[in-house]
Amino acid sequence: MPDRPDGTPLGIFGGTFDPVHFGHLRLAEEAIEALDLAGVRWIPAGQPALREPPQVAAGQRLAMVRLAIADNSRFSVDAAEIEAARPSFTVPTLQRLRRADQCGRQRPLVLLLGADAFAALSGWHRWQSLFALAHLAVAHRPGFPIEVDRLPPALAESYRERHCADPALLAAVPAGRIVTFAMTQLAISATRIRALLAQGGSVRYLLPEAVIAHIRKENLYREQ
Ligand code: ATP
Repeated sequence: MPDRPDGTPLGIFGGTFDPVHFGHLRLAEEAIEALDLAGVRWIPAGQPALREPPQVAAGQRLAMVRLAIADNSRFSVDAAEIEAARPSFTVPTLQRLRRADQCGRQRPLVLLLGADAFAALSGWHRWQSLFALAHLAVAHRPGFPIEVDRLPPALAESYRERHCADPALLAAVPAGRIVTFAMTQLAISATRIRALLAQGGSVRYLLPEAVIAHIRKENLYREQ
């Protein structure tokens, strides 16, 4: 079990992962180092609530995440959302993680997001409830500068209220703070990978070889 059972903050990383790529993997790896996390729990979304349905079946996205993280003992996967045949929302997911048989109420949880996802946060269902359940850690992403003055006003206000410069403060309380962290900038997106695969282009070095092998074996992301 990679998650340390103590009160060390645990990273929570949700996404469509359609497919998982090195941008995701570096984000999770660098978050552990930058924020001193015990580990990262990956939570692939079932049917994402706010976007187009993923291109491949839930089971395939889960299989690819499992392959991608298999050799990292600090990563684990939570398959509950992807196995549920309903839209995934982050607040109920975090409420589930807060149950006593999961992480409990006291352990700091740190929701990891790329800057693009953060900028869209105020469109999420019950987004203001997130802060009672987890901290937010926003990773820099090429093309999505974190410009507080350009955020929707309610989100900018939450950011100003909750932002702290020192990630060590995440360990002090279970939830409610926002930090940003710089990661190796990788302009990789699942959208681009899907387009390359549909055209028969090379995706080497954008995602793990084991995931590419799985995509080839299962004939995924081919032009319809
Ligand atoms: P798509 O292109 O299909 O929208 P994506 O590559 O953005 O997919 P998601 O599964 O939607 O991948 O992303 C999950 C999380 O990872 C989001 O918080 C997103 O901001 C973040 N993320 C994805 N790629 C990167 C990247 N290259 N750098 C930083 N963050 C990233």
